Amino acid sequence: MSLGIGLVGLGAIARAQHLPALEQVEDVHLAALASRNATLPDLPCYPDIDALLAAEPDVTAISLCTPPQGRFDQAMAVLRAGRHLMLEKPPGATLSEVEALREEAARRGLTLFASWHSRAAAGVDPARDWLTGKTLRTVVIDWREDVRKWHPGQQWIWQAGGLGVFDPGINALSILTAVLADPARLISADLQVPEGRETPIAARLEMRAADAAITAHFDWRESGDELWRMRLETEEGGATLDQGGARFAIDGQVQPIAESSEYARLYERFRDLVARGERDADFTPLRLVADAFLNGRMHQVAPFIEAPHG
Ligand code: NAP
Repeated sequence: MSLGIGLVGLGAIARAQHLPALEQVEDVHLAALASRNATLPDLPCYPDIDALLAAEPDVTAISLCTPPQGRFDQAMAVLRAGRHLMLEKPPGATLSEVEALREEAARRGLTLFASWHSRAAAGVDPARDWLTGKTLRTVVIDWREDVRKWHPGQQWIWQAGGLGVFDPGINALSILTAVLADPARLISADLQVPEGRETPIAARLEMRAADAAITAHFDWRESGDELWRMRLETEEGGATLDQGGARFAIDGQVQPIAESSEYARLYERFRDLVARGERDADFTPLRLVADAFLNGRMHQVAPFIEAPHG
C-alpha cells in the first residue's frame, strides 16, 4: 500500500526536491500539505501542522521541510499524534531537542528518519567502500558557494539556530561521518561572523579521526567557481568526492557511477523504515557543528549585504 505523506513547509527545497521525489518514488505519495502561505491544487491543504494532524488521521507519515528553528514543536506534535516523521537536515536547532525527539519516537514505536540528503549522493557509498581497509592520512574539505545564489531572502539562516555557512557545511560533515571508519572529533574551529549577524559566513575546522588529520573550509562568499569537494589521502592512494558527493574519482580517474536522485533515495528509505518499524536518526554531523560553536574562535568580519554587487 502506498504511504501517504503530509508535507510541512512549501519553501525552496520542498518545491525543488520533495515534490518531484514524491511523484517519482513507488508506494509513496503526497497526501496533504501544511503551509502558512501556499496551497496545491487537488490536495487537502492546511495552515499549520496541528490543523493537518487533526483533520487527516489517515496521514500516518509527515515530512518536515521547515527551517530548523521552530521545528521541534512541529516534530513533537507529529510524534504525539502517533505519526511517523522524516526531518530535513539539519534535524533541529539543538542537540538536546533532537535527542528528545529520538527518545519520544522510540518510546512510541514510531519511525524517526533524520535525513541527510548528501549521504544519498551517488559517490558516497563507492567512497566508503573504497576507503574500507585503507589507512587514512588526511581529508581536505572545500565547500565554497555563493549564499546570494542559494539562499536569496532567507532570514532564518542568519538567525541563531540557522547555522549560517554550516547549513551547507553540515552536508560535507554528513558525508565525512558516513565514509570514515573512525569517529571524527573537533580539534579547533574559526568562525567568521559578519557584523550584525548571528551566524557565520565562513568557517575553518580542524578535526581528527584516529590518525587522520581533517581540515574543512566552508565559505559562503564564493562568487566565482563554486566547489563542494572532499579530498581523501590514504597510504594506499588518493580519491576525491566532488560536486557534493555526486562524482567520485580514484587517483584522478572518474569512476562510472549510476546517476541517482538524492531525494528519491530519501523517500525510498523513509518508506522502507516505516514498513519495517525502524528508526534512522544519526546526529553525528550536528554534534560536530555544535562542537564548532562550543569550541570555536569567533571573528567579526565585514557586514553581509544581501543585494548583489553592482
Ligand atoms: P525556505 O525556502 O526558507 O523554506 C522554508 C519554508 O518553511 C517556508 O517557505 C515556509 O513554508 C516554512 N516556514 C515555517 N516557519 C518558517 C519560518 N519561521 N521562517 C521561514 N519559513 C518558515 O527554506 P529551504 O531552503 O526550503 O530550507 C528548509 C530546510 O531544508 C532547511 O533545514 C534547509 O537546511 C534544508 N535544505 C535546503 C536546501 C536548499 O538548497 N534550499 C537543500 C537541502 C536541504 P510555508 O510558507 O509553506 O509555511
